Amino acid sequence: MRVAVFSAQRFERDFLQESGLLQEFGSVDIDFLEARLEADTAKLAMGYDAVCAFVNDSICAATLKGLKEGGVRCLLLRCAGFNNVDLAAAAEHGICVLRVPAYSPYAVAEFGVALLLALARKTHRAYARVRDGNFAAGGLTGFELHGRTVGVIGTGKIGRLFARILAGFGATVLAYDVRQSEEAIKFGCEYVPMDELLSRSEIVSLHCPLLPSTRHMIDAEAIGKMKRGATLINVSRGELMDTRAVVDALKSGQLGALGADVYEGEAGLFFHDLSGQVLKDDTMMTLQSLPNVLLTPHVAFLTDTALGNIWTTTFNNVLDFDKAKDSEELLNQLKNQVVA
Ligand code: NAD
Repeated sequence: MRVAVFSAQRFERDFLQESGLLQEFGSVDIDFLEARLEADTAKLAMGYDAVCAFVNDSICAATLKGLKEGGVRCLLLRCAGFNNVDLAAAAEHGICVLRVPAYSPYAVAEFGVALLLALARKTHRAYARVRDGNFAAGGLTGFELHGRTVGVIGTGKIGRLFARILAGFGATVLAYDVRQSEEAIKFGCEYVPMDELLSRSEIVSLHCPLLPSTRHMIDAEAIGKMKRGATLINVSRGELMDTRAVVDALKSGQLGALGADVYEGEAGLFFHDLSGQVLKDDTMMTLQSLPNVLLTPHVAFLTDTALGNIWTTTFNNVLDFDKAKDSEELLNQLKNQVVA
């Protein structure tokens, strides 16, 4: 099997070499391409059996058409979310889509807590001051998580872990999800309607997938229902928030702080070193300048455990596809993975 890995990052290649996974799965012939997978670059996959895509690749109908024309039969996502894939077009072109449904929910949940703790205690600002020879404590008064009310939107694998950690801090945890989790109720989550969650929480954390129904779920109206000065955490997808409305609320004080590992329009920015360039994205420039904002470039997943799981599952997906590719029944069984 020949696989073209798009949006290949240096840290991934290094990890694959150092972990021995490249050698362990030596029967899979992979080439790393720096290019992002999109309609214009799909032709680079000509002659490959499969392509491997990353979280910000654009796998729209035109991309899939290009892949099909080049002979590609399998799309491997080395991420959990599949909001960037036109699944109907993939089915139409007979391209089997496989993903990594769970690689380490702990990595993402713990990172969300790290952002929250840093904002609550202004650790990022204290660190920068000390580096600058400024040892003054003025302006570094924070707040404790013990006794706070935290609203968790989406109590799937990651949201449940985030909620459990916060319950461990002694916070009151409110939850909203279209499906309630018995496990979350058992460790103390109280499910409430969305509006009640927004109005009662001092901290709101987003953990649901990006769907047409969840896009901009945190807009000006939702922010208006939140407690004044609340903290918003988003380690899920940038498009869950209307970023312009979030910026306005951060400026007016309606939002007290934002911790985000994702950004609406992050493709083209995140995973690139643009430090020598003038950014053209005014919203990002505003966010970068606000002291109550902590932004990271989609790295919540990035632990050694998660990388190992992502690549082991991806290689196994290649091998499973290779075994199933000539049987419609086996292929259908495999394809169910995408939405399972
Ligand atoms: P999951 O499928 O286990 O859980 C998602 C939960 O969201 C489910 O319980 C689902 O019922 C709920 N949900 C769906 N629609 C909803 C709605 N309208 N309102 C409220 N809840 C809704 O997924 P997960 O593994 O916990 O991952 C959650 C999200 O985290 C992913 O979709 C992805 O966007 C994001 N993620 C980010 C990173 C990162 O590095 N920053 C890494 C992995 C995943």
